[in-house]
Amino acid sequence: MSDVLERFLRYARYDTQSVENSATYPSTDAQLVFLRDLAAELCGLGLTDAEVDEHGYLMATIPPTTTRRDVPTIGFLAHVDTSPEVAGAGVTPIVHRAWDGRDLVLPDDPSAVLRLRDHPALAAQVGHDIVTASGTTLLGADNKAGVAEIVTAAAFLMNHPDIPHGTIRIAFTPDEEVGRGTAHFDVGRFGARCAYTMDGGGLGEIETESFSADSMTVTFHGFNTHPGYARGLMTNAIKVAAAFIDSLPHDTLSPETTEGREGFVHPYVVQASVDRTSVKLLVRDYAREGLAEKEAVVDALARQATGRFPGARVEIAVEESYRNMRDVLDAHPAVAENARVAIRRAGLEPRSRSIRGGTDGARLSFMGLPTPNLFAGEHNFHSRLEWVSVQDMEKAVEVIVHLCRLWEESPGA
Ligand SMILES: [Zn+2]
Repeated sequence: MSDVLERFLRYARYDTQSVENSATYPSTDAQLVFLRDLAAELCGLGLTDAEVDEHGYLMATIPPTTTRRDVPTIGFLAHVDTSPEVAGAGVTPIVHRAWDGRDLVLPDDPSAVLRLRDHPALAAQVGHDIVTASGTTLLGADNKAGVAEIVTAAAFLMNHPDIPHGTIRIAFTPDEEVGRGTAHFDVGRFGARCAYTMDGGGLGEIETESFSADSMTVTFHGFNTHPGYARGLMTNAIKVAAAFIDSLPHDTLSPETTEGREGFVHPYVVQASVDRTSVKLLVRDYAREGLAEKEAVVDALARQATGRFPGARVEIAVEESYRNMRDVLDAHPAVAENARVAIRRAGLEPRSRSIRGGTDGARLSFMGLPTPNLFAGEHNFHSRLEWVSVQDMEKAVEVIVHLCRLWEESPGA
């Protein structure tokens, strides 16, 4: 299974950055180059239906080896794009064999240093092989580690037809990092009962919970007129918005002051003019009631601020972003339970984590495909200090193979 490293190093060199606000889907053609090469690689392994569709979704099938008829089809997913936040072209992956715990200074930028004391997750990696980029780009382990793990598991299963498993579906998707990874995903065509995204962090982790998320747009309307003759006439929407933003809680309910299971309200874009100033906010909580409470706080504060400025008016719009996938996964307990058993069979202790964000799996869960997220060994997402351990990737491959067997052993679970 050490092929996973060879694959990962090869994949990391593709520039597959996605971009925001693209008129095309996928957002960049470069992703298609990688996807087509992946399809060819899968065909070479014997997954003869591997194909990239018009939206850039690569789907493929590992044919069943079981004699049972009641084994459900399960799926594995990973995204091929890398974050637009950090340079993703010209990635030079470096393998630090049998890492001895010393600072890893990345050669192309000596200020890029991975230190044990800054990154506690590295403590478990002494003696392991760690892959980093060279200091000026991201590595793209998010999510090419997952891609390499899935392809390696597929190769292993194709070479071991003696291992009984049902139909296994694979999908590689574009544009996850710009929040559009599931925009055209056809759950019916994928045809699986459940799936797993291989896009998580440390060894043994399983994520079955995401935030519930809405976005709010609070628009303040004022009245503009020549500032030299504005006495008693002008209402400055910028000042109303400023009063509103200043009234938002500072010490609680903010991304910068919360952690764990606390939610928050987060103003992140302001478009300002005297006539009209709109404030966009993210609202996050694990529970729907918590989400509603936070929206009520925003609503009340916006109206209060407006009330202080004669002639001002406010409009408030709420848009649903995604929901906590736990709502769906709780109704299909075998999906996460089999993942936990597979992680144990790989010799690891399963560790549940809640994502302080969303995943494609969260969206897919609500589209009818229950999809928790499993560890892929990714660390320092969207950073020049991104790293992945080869031994962790090998464990993730094992977990995939165990999962395929488990669903065959107890299909009705
Ligand atoms: Zn990712």
